[in-house]
Amino acid sequence: MKLHEYQAKGVFADAGIPTPDSQLASDVDGAVAAAEEIGYPVAIKAQVQVGGRGKAGGIKLVDDEDEAREAADAILGMDLKGYHVDSVLVEGAVDFTDELYVGITMDRGEGKPVAMVSTKGGVDIEEVAEEDPDAIAQEHVDPSFGMHPYQARKAVYDAGVDPAVARDVSNVLMTLYDLWEQKDGSDAEINPLMVTADDEVIAADAVMNVDEDALFRQPELAEMEAEAASTGDDLEQKADEYGFDYVRLEGNTGIIGNGAGLVMTTLDLVDYYGGEPANFLDVGGGAKADRIANALDMVFSDDNVESVVFNIFGGITRGDEVAKGINEALEQFDEIPKPVVVRLAGTNWEEGMEILNEDLVTVEQTLEDAVQRAVEYAEEVSE
Ligand code: GDP
Ligand code: MN
Repeated sequence: MKLHEYQAKGVFADAGIPTPDSQLASDVDGAVAAAEEIGYPVAIKAQVQVGGRGKAGGIKLVDDEDEAREAADAILGMDLKGYHVDSVLVEGAVDFTDELYVGITMDRGEGKPVAMVSTKGGVDIEEVAEEDPDAIAQEHVDPSFGMHPYQARKAVYDAGVDPAVARDVSNVLMTLYDLWEQKDGSDAEINPLMVTADDEVIAADAVMNVDEDALFRQPELAEMEAEAASTGDDLEQKADEYGFDYVRLEGNTGIIGNGAGLVMTTLDLVDYYGGEPANFLDVGGGAKADRIANALDMVFSDDNVESVVFNIFGGITRGDEVAKGINEALEQFDEIPKPVVVRLAGTNWEEGMEILNEDLVTVEQTLEDAVQRAVEYAEEVSE
């Protein structure tokens, strides 16, 4: 689960990390009122869970009411990298001299969490990692002991942080590690951690991703789940309501399958045959007719989709149930929005094949044929 910036900032602030004064607003008047209360200048920041909001026009610094109104009006409702902006965080602007990066993540290669510090904050850290990896100091932590203070100091020193703020930055890093550990974090990040002219440090941005499966023992985070899940992406929202594992991708071949491995295989095959997957959609085991109809509804709602391939391997899921679902879903249309190709295997696949209405779908016997057919359909439309 990814927290919104305002949620992550709340968690960080509660743990004692300095953050700017801020308020969440979901309309222009609310944003202006917040700005007045906080005092100009303020930053108005789109609350969507993508990086690089600054560059994409989702963050504006404003000096007075007119500017605040204009900025809030422009940002609220905007489409930021595919996400609809429903709320903004209004926060006191920071007069900074330096921008640092501090973060904790799991280093899977080492099997240990790693703390990272860089004086090249404020830009995409992946870029820094690629272009100038030495600019990121790293310190692995033994999770059974936690982060020792000397380790935090070492990372801060290795990164070349100004000694005047080294102690404060070390403290922030220690706190961030403790949060990451105690809250079942997967990533915790502050970019930028701003340094002011009078040598104070303040978290101007906040990222916190946590292990969803640990929410049962994190009641405070569990309460944030609904808000965190409202990402501004209508399809992700829908997937959440339907209870599907869904990831939106860039291509035009829609994919529906049961079981994560099977769906991944289908994605790979679409790619192998020269197509581009539009999504990952796992309807799960035991998928009944209505779930299949919901899955089709999801994929048809994606404007990029030009064809759909069903890859169902019956185990608990029964081929005849799936076939019924596909028929029912497609019978509702006067005209099928996009061609649908179906491959059924496993439990009751033969019954399923008999049930499928071939006026509505193309049936293929093998996965290879089904994927190739769907890719062809998608290509025909794009030509
Ligand atoms: P991101 O682009 O989504 O990572 O959002 P950030 O909150 O990190 O903001 C992007 C950039 O805006 C920062 O790195 C700063 O360079 C710039 N910025 C300038 N002044 C301010 C300020 O007062 N507050 C914040 N948050 N950002 C500022
Ligand atoms: Mn940032």
